[in-house]
Amino acid sequence: MADAFDLVIIGGGPAGQAAALALDGHGLSIAVVDEQLRPGGQILRQPPATFRVANWLPGKTYDPLKAQLARFAALDSVEWLGGHSAIGLLRDGEGFAVQASGPEGARRLATRRVLVAAGCQDLAVPLPGWTLPGVYAAGGIQAFVKSQQIVPGERVVLAGTHPLMLMIAAQIVAAGGTVASVLFAQDMGTMVRSVLARTGAALGYATDLMAAAGAMMALRRAGVPVRFGVGLEAVLGDTRVTAVRTSAGEIACDAVGLCYGFVPQSALPRMAGARVRPAGPAGGWAVLADEWMESSIPGLFVAGETTGVAGAPAAMAAGELAGIGIARKMGLIDATTASRSAGTPRRAHADRLEFAALLDAVADPTGHLPRPAPDTIACRCEDVTFAAIDAEIAGGGSANAVKLVTRCGMGPCQGRNCEPTLLRRIGRADDPGFTQRFPARPVTIGDLAGPA
Ligand SMILES: Cc1cc2nc3c(=O)[nH]c(=O)nc-3n(C[C@H](O)[C@H](O)[C@H](O)COP(=O)(O)OP(=O)(O)OC[C@H]3O[C@@H](n4cnc5c(N)ncnc54)[C@H](O)[C@@H]3O)c2cc1C
Repeated sequence: MADAFDLVIIGGGPAGQAAALALDGHGLSIAVVDEQLRPGGQILRQPPATFRVANWLPGKTYDPLKAQLARFAALDSVEWLGGHSAIGLLRDGEGFAVQASGPEGARRLATRRVLVAAGCQDLAVPLPGWTLPGVYAAGGIQAFVKSQQIVPGERVVLAGTHPLMLMIAAQIVAAGGTVASVLFAQDMGTMVRSVLARTGAALGYATDLMAAAGAMMALRRAGVPVRFGVGLEAVLGDTRVTAVRTSAGEIACDAVGLCYGFVPQSALPRMAGARVRPAGPAGGWAVLADEWMESSIPGLFVAGETTGVAGAPAAMAAGELAGIGIARKMGLIDATTASRSAGTPRRAHADRLEFAALLDAVADPTGHLPRPAPDTIACRCEDVTFAAIDAEIAGGGSANAVKLVTRCGMGPCQGRNCEPTLLRRIGRADDPGFTQRFPARPVTIGDLAGPA
């Protein structure tokens, strides 16, 4: 296997695929690194190749994404490094070194340019009982359904503020599962007002709104209660989930999916020193990019939800723009050709950002997040409680200071889960968050040390 490339793309989702497709035919050596064995990203999380699944992910939303995935899979200009995690990203002379870990151990990929299209992840939401077995991020439940064809529970409760819950609940029902309840913490009036305040954007995206309405109708038909203004207070159970306590009483269940929003996966560009901005109401950091999707570090490009959570069509458009931007930067196309080719994806991207702003407003978890108790775990890698972090915050501690004293954020997830919680708790807009450290994903000492 080669270890030197013209371009390494981290992430084989809609954004990474679109970039690779835009660069096809230029004779570049391109590696695409992805933790998943098969390409598709979060939205098209494919079942294992050995599964035969009839009617996988039906619906108009998925059709353009599936078409792109098929074109990407047919590319022979790409070395697909599935089952590999990118754990580090460093500048190296004129180019970059991507440190990756996979079945063969750790590898160092030298590359002239990098595109980070690492997507987003569910916001982790601590509340009393959230570490009991049976509590998932809603996207985690969906990943089981999409990829493993499993519903992880007999009676599932979905709770949060994000409308994606409706789609996930409908997918659980279609897979033969039982959804005990879908609970929106905000009231219906708040959601409707958010849509009406941006009627223009809403009307332009009738298809997306229809998809939500279609899911709602499927849930009605299945007798699934969808309730608004019902906040989650605690997950109950001794050794695993048996019920949830809400502002409207207890509901028996054996699985809970928490769905309060999504945060960008931006650890690698942050590690390389790229400039970021606060991502949105759910928290996290979005990487800043110019009109060609180049970050503040020359040669480091970013696309898709690493730059802000805006949905798969925006990710596809931004990935194509990044591909064109990389070709322009490498002198493979001239400025006029680049500008002409960029017109359509640039407009599509801008349009989708409007819709993303609408979704942010509708799904805003601010004021609706469950309240943790003093003994609730805030950092589950290192078992750090809210009492421990609050004590340091009261002394004026920044995120990094709280991390040093309490170990909040020092465990295997490297703060991916607890950083938004800690920053929300600190509540100071000028806190830059954790200094991002190597490795971005867990790796064994043996892999780092290399073959014996
Ligand atoms: C769990 C989950 C479920 C979602 N489901 C839906 C849905 O049903 N409908 C919808 O409209 N939107 C959904 N979204 C939002 C959706 O992710 C995006 O709209 C779309 O997939 C974004 O495309 P992308 O290319 O930016 O990122 P992604 O599709 O997320 O692709 C990024 C890829 O990068 C890989 N990756 C990340 N970090 C690393 C690393 N360090 N090393 C190696 N590989 C890495 C990931 O494995 C992933 O395959 C979901 C998001 C999440 C987190």
